[in-house]
Amino acid sequence: MRAWVLQDYGSLSLEERPLPEGPGLLLRVVATGICGSDLSVYKGTPAMRARWRPPLILGHEVAGIVEEGPEALLGRAVALYPALPCGVCETCQAGRPHLCPSRRHLGFHYPGGLASWIRVPEGLAYPLPEGLPFWKGALAEPLAVAWHAVRRAGPEPGEKALVLGGGAMGALVAWLLQREGTVVHLVEPNPYRAQKLLRLGLAQEAVPKGEEAGREAYPLVMDTVGLQATLTQGLRALAPGGKAVVVGLAGTEGALDLQDLVLKEKHLFGSYLFTPEEFQEILPLLDEVPEGLVYLWPAENADQAFLALLEGRIAEPKLVLVW
Ligand SMILES: [Zn+2]
Ligand SMILES: [Zn+2]
Repeated sequence: MRAWVLQDYGSLSLEERPLPEGPGLLLRVVATGICGSDLSVYKGTPAMRARWRPPLILGHEVAGIVEEGPEALLGRAVALYPALPCGVCETCQAGRPHLCPSRRHLGFHYPGGLASWIRVPEGLAYPLPEGLPFWKGALAEPLAVAWHAVRRAGPEPGEKALVLGGGAMGALVAWLLQREGTVVHLVEPNPYRAQKLLRLGLAQEAVPKGEEAGREAYPLVMDTVGLQATLTQGLRALAPGGKAVVVGLAGTEGALDLQDLVLKEKHLFGSYLFTPEEFQEILPLLDEVPEGLVYLWPAENADQAFLALLEGRIAEPKLVLVW
């Protein structure tokens, strides 16, 4: 099989490797999405250097065909849940397996989907709806992240929300909010990308960066970037008693305006991954995801895709590699 191995930060090489042996499912990978976290590991950001060390086979947004495993799944198109919780700790027992302190991540602890084949624990595979294109299957993971974040927010129909960031997460969060009848305003500094999301009907209005605080107060703010600057601007744009959900994690630390937070009783939520039940819930929605969000790229040239993304040459919010 072929695998893209991150040999060192900034260095991917395509290697020929034997098929992975052992227990679990053997999956022929068809489509793999590149995530912001993959780019951060590739770049070797300080936060990622502290957690993960090359060599690594990245890739946790994976869709493929089961070629070895239990009878019921053989030949089925599946998407993979990206983490394996312990199942027995207090957090797991409380119904939050995605926050299990000893969970193991696909594409980090386990070799990921930046390879033509992958072997994974059986419980991670979820059958995709019949006839769904594989590239849409690769969106299951990011869509579930967005779904979990929107559920944390609990939007009311007709409510106005400000979405910060028009990358894959911003676009999917905006799409889900729209489906719930929320009026979405978007802050995305790249004007071409902002226009694209407006054209796709994912937002009613693009708000120029820096103007969001002055204009009106939003009952709901979704920060899909996660920098000190976006958190500050998001909290400022929030109405008294409003809710801000942070689902991006571009920065690692920052200060809060406590005066504003306390005196206006603003609610601030973090949102991370999603539960297996939520993964199941989004599978029927995948077919409706607008095609314009995705740029398909041959997996044989994945190294070039990483460069194109880092240089900002891709206007589509999501790049999916196809094997
Ligand atoms: Zn991801
Ligand atoms: Zn656990």
